[in-house]
Amino acid sequence: MTGSAAPASGVGSQRRHAATGSGAPSGGAIESDVIVVGAGPGGSAAATYLARSGLNVSLLEKTSFPREKVCGDGLTPRGTKQLIKLGIDISTENGWAHQRGLRFWAGGRHWDLDWPDLTDWPGYGVTRQRADFDQLLANNAVAAGAKLYELANVTEPIISPDTDRITGVLTKDGRRFTAPLVVAADGNSTRISVAMGINRREKLPMGVAVRTYYKSPLHDSPYIESWPELWEGKPGESKLLPGYGWIFPLGDGTCNVGLGILNTSTAFGKVDYKQMLKVWMDNTPPAWGFTDENRVGRVLGAALPMAFNRRPHYTRGLLLVGDAGGMVSPFNGEGIPYAMESAEMAAEAIADAHFRGVGTPAAEKVLQGYPARLNEEWGGYYTLGRVFTKIIGQPALMKVAVKYGLPRKVVMQFTLKMLSHLTDHRDGDIYDRIVNGLSRIAPAT
Ligand SMILES: Cc1cc2nc3c(=O)[nH]c(=O)nc-3n(C[C@H](O)[C@H](O)[C@H](O)COP(=O)(O)OP(=O)(O)OC[C@H]3O[C@@H](n4cnc5c(N)ncnc54)[C@H](O)[C@@H]3O)c2cc1C
Repeated sequence: MTGSAAPASGVGSQRRHAATGSGAPSGGAIESDVIVVGAGPGGSAAATYLARSGLNVSLLEKTSFPREKVCGDGLTPRGTKQLIKLGIDISTENGWAHQRGLRFWAGGRHWDLDWPDLTDWPGYGVTRQRADFDQLLANNAVAAGAKLYELANVTEPIISPDTDRITGVLTKDGRRFTAPLVVAADGNSTRISVAMGINRREKLPMGVAVRTYYKSPLHDSPYIESWPELWEGKPGESKLLPGYGWIFPLGDGTCNVGLGILNTSTAFGKVDYKQMLKVWMDNTPPAWGFTDENRVGRVLGAALPMAFNRRPHYTRGLLLVGDAGGMVSPFNGEGIPYAMESAEMAAEAIADAHFRGVGTPAAEKVLQGYPARLNEEWGGYYTLGRVFTKIIGQPALMKVAVKYGLPRKVVMQFTLKMLSHLTDHRDGDIYDRIVNGLSRIAPAT
């Protein structure tokens, strides 16, 4: 999209804000009001919202677009809503595939569940390959006025010896970016957070997943598929494989197919994921086309940091969003919506702090409000999710749930709302009230 040395857009580079006079290089440093490290969905969303608030934003990305990103490429209505808020054209004419719901496979049978009909969330989800998707979001941030620096690999924070706060970052190629506030949107490894002493909480849930692409007639299915149990052979008559799978239609002739495993499973870290994927695929109907000849992508894996497994989400001028803050849902492995939503919350706090005057007690108060808000919004839900990950780590319990729970419509509707975190808050039905109520009373730890 751009070269490494120059910002991708001049729109924001002309901006000056009276409170900081920022924007111009000084003493070799590139100054801005806020630095966002990482241009995944979290970083690009944060940069967009911040630029829209009139702040001068440097968005630093270590790779250059388009780049491959290991993901399922699927967005539930939760993610769809954020894309609409960001102003992305998600029409099918613009290359997005739309789905009406989730096909849930268990015990060799499947149930087609439409996304719930709600006021707060759209009734459909979308899919698109991340290479393209992430580039679109980064372009959107640039169009809003953020300056994107590609091939800007952030290696360390600049910390003021006087205040002990982060005041900028250094990149591998020796560039120096300064700003009074920094957003860590650099994904699961989040080098910047680690360098600031914010480490992963090992006891909290973590997943590992692999995915690849196949040419398949299922590519235009109206349902994304969830496979909570995977069998070595015939369902119910063979061995259960220790993981869950998905098949997401991309509408471009291909499906994204993958599987994941949680660290609550005894098999975590001990299985050959690629081999497991092959065993599962070999057992799918030949008409679906999941054969070696139809495979059009590499089998690649990555981690899913869940349930706030890295905290605090704000300290000394640094705010964590998305995977950097361990925000993947432990219920369904979905991380893109949470990255974009946390980005919006972080951007609101930053813009408010900016105008209060960063460094003042008033600004600090609003920045401290960011982790408090995250906890209020998702803390209880993630606590429930941690219990859920323990349950699905037990095949015997899963068997009972599948046998007695799934065939009941009531259980299915509740499960869909619970797992995908889709409820109405004002005028919800009984399922919404139960999910909302449980999330509210569960301790947000
Ligand atoms: C196999 C798999 C399947 C998944 N499927 C889904 C799915 O279908 N739906 C869903 O919602 N979620 C899914 N997830 C989770 C989802 O991919 C993440 O939650 C989401 O990408 C988080 O977005 P993010 O912006 O926080 O981080 P990322 O998307 O990881 O973006 C981080 C960005 O920071 C950049 N970066 C990293 N380090 C530096 C540095 N030092 N300097 C500068 N830049 C840096 C990276 O290059 C990257 O562009 C899946 C995850 C995996 C592993």
